[in-house]
Amino acid sequence: MTTTVASRQQTPDLVIAGALLQGQQGILERVAQGKPLKGTLDAIACLAETCMPQARVAILYYDPGDDQLSHGGFGNLPQSVQQALEGLVPGPQAGSCGTCLHRNEPVICEDVASDPIWEGQRDLCQEHKIQSTWSTPLLSPQDGSQLGVFGLYYQEKHFPAEAEQGLVDHFIHLATIATERHRRDDERSRQAWQDGLTGLGNRHQLQARSAEILTQYQAEGRTICLAFIDLDNFRLFNHNHGHHLGDKLLQYLGKKLKERLAPYELLARFGGDEFVALIEGNPEETMARLDQLASELDGEAMLIEHVRARLTLSMGLINCADVDFDLNQAIMQADAATRRAKEGGRNRTVLVDSHQLDEVQARLVVAQKLEDVVRQSQINPHGQPIVDLHSGMPIGSELLFRPKRGVLTGVSPQHCINIAEATGLIDSLGLQMLYAAYQISHHPQLSTTEMVVNVNLSVHQLMRQQFFDEVMEGLELFHVKPERICLEVTESRWLETEGPSRDVLDRLVERGFKLALDDFGTGYASLVVLRAFPFHHVKVDKSFVDSIETSEEARSLCRAMLEMGHACGVEITAEGIETEAQRLILSNMGFRRGQGYLFSPPVPMDELPGVLAMLASKAIAP
Ligand code: C2E
Ligand code: MG
Ligand code: MG
Repeated sequence: MTTTVASRQQTPDLVIAGALLQGQQGILERVAQGKPLKGTLDAIACLAETCMPQARVAILYYDPGDDQLSHGGFGNLPQSVQQALEGLVPGPQAGSCGTCLHRNEPVICEDVASDPIWEGQRDLCQEHKIQSTWSTPLLSPQDGSQLGVFGLYYQEKHFPAEAEQGLVDHFIHLATIATERHRRDDERSRQAWQDGLTGLGNRHQLQARSAEILTQYQAEGRTICLAFIDLDNFRLFNHNHGHHLGDKLLQYLGKKLKERLAPYELLARFGGDEFVALIEGNPEETMARLDQLASELDGEAMLIEHVRARLTLSMGLINCADVDFDLNQAIMQADAATRRAKEGGRNRTVLVDSHQLDEVQARLVVAQKLEDVVRQSQINPHGQPIVDLHSGMPIGSELLFRPKRGVLTGVSPQHCINIAEATGLIDSLGLQMLYAAYQISHHPQLSTTEMVVNVNLSVHQLMRQQFFDEVMEGLELFHVKPERICLEVTESRWLETEGPSRDVLDRLVERGFKLALDDFGTGYASLVVLRAFPFHHVKVDKSFVDSIETSEEARSLCRAMLEMGHACGVEITAEGIETEAQRLILSNMGFRRGQGYLFSPPVPMDELPGVLAMLASKAIAP
């Protein structure tokens, strides 16, 4: 009999325990599977209401970045109260949930009507006859940080009983597990989506968030522009003051840009010193805003750790509607406009116009054709002799990229190379050219002791991890001595990219390769680069040779470069010699080596040995 009474008394507890166990299992599964937090908090709130039928439950996640509550999980709490809780900012009078986070301790309110913490939302509570509330912060067991809040709402005057506390603790424990897991996932995705240096979004975030934003703007017929923002002369700043200060400058710029954009306008660091922003408004308004921003930044006297820096920006702007709200197209177009801004003298904003839209479209077509050429190994390298300017004797050849005949007609090799560099095709193209150089170096006409085969390298190739191994593998494959190969790198590109590691160049030189600094005199740090890296040759740019007959200045510069080369112990080659008069002036000046149409234009590989033989036969005896 006693047993029956006892079991009858335990029945409600058993029902609760059963529901609790079952519900808890489902909730923990949700957490383990990484399901959305809101659904999990909903499930916990419903379970809590099943066990405590007199209470209405709200569980919210606290985002310390935004300093507000979100992802609210609710049982049967009235809709308008739910809405008031979503986005709530903690504070001293922010109801019991907001106040308990503000005080970082449980808040029990027996009488909503008189408690000052309900000052702002008393009417809402009265509307739904809420008389008492009880909120507890969810704290991380790891570090005590606030994860969220667990709130109970009652329609009668209520003070928690001791037995109730145990049950509530149980739900708080469940909610803590769920919110902590969410915090960790959030942190991880924040890291994956955030640029570590500036704290702004990165490329991934831009891709992910912009899709949603652009679709919305398109659907609503609203105008949004994409701005590509590039810091002027950043490489130079980095080079002169070091990466540490360069990083500080980028952080400063990121902060300033963020301050001047609205919170809903997306800003991301795209890479290096490039930022991308999605800005609401038509192109004219946006252009005015950007120009205003740029002139404010330029006007600021800015010190980065005692270094005075001038902050000017080159920007490209496009109306996203012009490219059907396609982010990648918009970025390409705005990037191209930024390049125009740089070419136009920097410190300006260029709006993409219809002419430019066509130009970028044309670049896409070239990029596609070039990709086919490279993927199908349809390159057609040409060779141009390098001669002894005094005797006319060939002493080497430079290999230059050409696509297979009939493809990309009318597109200059330089344009192809620029596109290959922009698209990443240069790695494969450059390697095919290098292996072509290895191959031709075996030809009897090119394998005399002094003959060297020059091949152009892009700095992008040097930056690749596998580059050195690929160079070495080719040597074995083609049985080539590295002394027979000279790698030409264009000087003006040295400071545009991070700069290839000294290590790779040292290793190449150690293995016996020759190095040449190409187009010398066209960049802005000739001497710096020349002294910093182990070059054997310098090639003076054609632009100096062009005017050598008519300009005293060009002659003086050539003389200066010759002297500089000698002082640094490097050989000097003059490029682009077209006339006998140019050859004579250069030769008399002391230039020993030269290259140009006067001797031969670049010719297909099968014609190169014949051209070299012809030049050798015409050369005067030393
Ligand atoms: P570069 O390496 O300075 O090559 C010399 C350029 O001047 C070649 O142009 C050559 O055809 C041209 N040239 C030589 N002599 C004369 C002359 O007397 N008069 C005139 N007007 N031009 C002359 P090309 O082949 O159009 O190549 C342009 C640039 O493209 C090259 O300049 C080089 O920077 C780049 N390039 C070419 N092939 C490759 C390659 O395989 N890889 C890389 N990374 N860059 C390449
Ligand atoms: Mg070259
Ligand atoms: Mg050159």
